[in-house]
Amino acid sequence: MKKIIIAIDGFSSCGKSTMAKDLAREIGYIYIDTGAMYRAVTLYCIEHRLFNADGSIREEELRSRMKDIHISFRLDPDTQRPVTLLNGEEVESRIRTMEVSSHVSPVATLGFVREALVRQQQAMGKEKGIVMDGRDIGTVVFPEAELKIFVTASAEIRAQRRYDELKAKGEEASFEEILHNVEERDRIDQTRKVSPLRKADDALLLDNSHLSIAEQKEWLKSQYERIVHA
Ligand code: C5P
Repeated sequence: MKKIIIAIDGFSSCGKSTMAKDLAREIGYIYIDTGAMYRAVTLYCIEHRLFNADGSIREEELRSRMKDIHISFRLDPDTQRPVTLLNGEEVESRIRTMEVSSHVSPVATLGFVREALVRQQQAMGKEKGIVMDGRDIGTVVFPEAELKIFVTASAEIRAQRRYDELKAKGEEASFEEILHNVEERDRIDQTRKVSPLRKADDALLLDNSHLSIAEQKEWLKSQYERIVHA
C-alpha cells in the first residue's frame, strides 16, 4: 500500500492529537505531535530562566542555545503512546502544565525557533508513513501532503475538554483561566507574522464540536482510505 503524509492542523485543544494518534496506531504510521516540540522548547526556557519577569523572552540567549535543545520521542512500552524527551529526559507531563501553555505561543512566534523545529519535522517525514499534527503542517512543513485536515471546535467546547483532562489528572484548574488561555493562544497563533495558523486551501475542514471521539476517528479513517485506494 502506498505511504502518505497526513497533516492535521487546527486550533488548540480541539482533539487533533487524539484522532491523529489513534489513526497512526491503527495504520502503523509514525505520529508526531509538533505542539509537544514547541512546548519542550518553552519548558527549556522556563527551566533556564530565559523569560523576563514581564513574560518576554531573552531572545538572543535562546537563539544561541537552540543548538543545545534536542527533542525526540519514544513509545512508552506500557501505554504504547509516544512520550516527549527533552535532551534525553522524559518531560511528557511537565510540558502539559498551565505554566507551559501560557508561555508557549510567544516562543512559537520566533522565526529561528520555527526554522529549527520545521527542519526536524521535515526530516522525520522523509520516508512518509507519518501523521503529524500542529498549526502549520499543511501550509509550511508539508505543503505537498497527500491528506490535509483542518480541525476546529468552539472555544468553550475546547476549554471544557482541556478542563476535564486536567481534572481527570487531579490537577487544579479554573475553567475561566483555561478559556482565556485557549482564546489568547488562538489570537496569537492566528495573527503571528511567521507561519500563522490558517487552513491550507486544499485542507478538508472538520468541525468536531458535536462529534464523539469514535465518530471523528471513523471519519478520519475513511479519508485516509479514500486517498490510499485512489
Ligand atoms: O498543539 P498544542 O496546543 O500542544 O501546541 C502548543 C502551542 O505550540 C500552540 O498554541 C502554538 O502556539 C504552538 N504550535 C505552533 N506550531 C505547531 C504546533 C504548535 O506554533 N506546528
